[in-house]
Amino acid sequence: MTTNLLNYDLDGLAAFCERLGEKRFRATQLFRWIHQKGATSFEQMTDLAKSLREKLPASASIEGLKVVSRHESVDGTIKWLFDVGAGDVIETVFIPESDRGTLCISSQAGCAVGCRFCSTGHQGFSRNLTTGEIIAQLWFAEHFLRKHLGRDERVISNVVMMGMGEPLQNYAQLLPALRVMLDDHAYGLSRRRVTVSTSGVVPMIDRLAQDCPIALAVSLHAPLDALRSDLVPLNKKYPIAELLQACARYQVAAPRDFITFEYCMLDGVNDQPEHARALVALMQTHKLDGLNCKFNLIPFNPFPASGLTRSGMPAVLAFAKILLDAGMVTTVRKTRGDDIDAACGQLAGDVQDRTGAAQRMASQRQGMLGGIKVVVARDLNA
Ligand code: SF4
Repeated sequence: MTTNLLNYDLDGLAAFCERLGEKRFRATQLFRWIHQKGATSFEQMTDLAKSLREKLPASASIEGLKVVSRHESVDGTIKWLFDVGAGDVIETVFIPESDRGTLCISSQAGCAVGCRFCSTGHQGFSRNLTTGEIIAQLWFAEHFLRKHLGRDERVISNVVMMGMGEPLQNYAQLLPALRVMLDDHAYGLSRRRVTVSTSGVVPMIDRLAQDCPIALAVSLHAPLDALRSDLVPLNKKYPIAELLQACARYQVAAPRDFITFEYCMLDGVNDQPEHARALVALMQTHKLDGLNCKFNLIPFNPFPASGLTRSGMPAVLAFAKILLDAGMVTTVRKTRGDDIDAACGQLAGDVQDRTGAAQRMASQRQGMLGGIKVVVARDLNA
């Protein structure tokens, strides 16, 4: 039985190498070969000592995921389905734009949170992905895309943990994967270009603030506890007030960052003017209006089991106007990859990177005076 080296961040790989009697710089070499060059075998690692190359296969391997299918949209969005065994399949989506390439990654096979508007939630929970399975999605996509697009340099500039699963309910496996994404010897992504989206696992928001304060997106979807508990059952455990307090604490660790509140617009359920006004009041009560937060209003993609329908655009724009008039930075998402059904339950892709966000947000607010700013993003629901 060999150890899949995709499971390790650099410290983990150094410890593995130490057990083999190898020095840390060997781990750095290995790490670069795997993540920067996409090596799939130790034979390729020509600057490693021959003796090490010969020794490694007995105890180590580099094992990616089995591709079930790949679909490419006319807009360039690519969706992969990966087989993770025992009949479980996960999704990964690449969303290209002129100035960035974003990968939306899954953290679990299924999801235990069970949000009403999410088809993944309706499928139930199967299991947590390992660190190797999380990072394999980036490893595969990055090196596939370089070949596919004929590029030598990095293709994926942003990662969003918004695929299948609640990432903060798989924290132990998530954290090393995030560290690989940020490591300069691997993908070297800035922490503002890696986003974790959570339905509100309050203790883990605090842990993430301490361990790895990357960009945070929070699925809010309702301004009142009764409604939110109906839409996002985790709210019964961590109600809105606790969640918003955790967000405020998070910003102490990441003071210049925005927290994004996601709000899936559901016809007649949470999209009325009174909901928008309640949202404004909520933010004022918690004094979050002074924080760097913004709202993303997301079009819902209906699926039969949900019993829900998408809000009409007039309702969305009216909702957005109330938030904007109250001084809250608000955008409406545009969908991507519709023709390949690239969206999954709550497999949402916020493709806005956080770099320079303050300037963009300011210009978006001004733009909103003459009409609602629409932000390109991947949609929900497969
Ligand atoms: S929206 Fe996210 S947290 Fe909720 S059920 Fe879907 S995958 Fe899970």
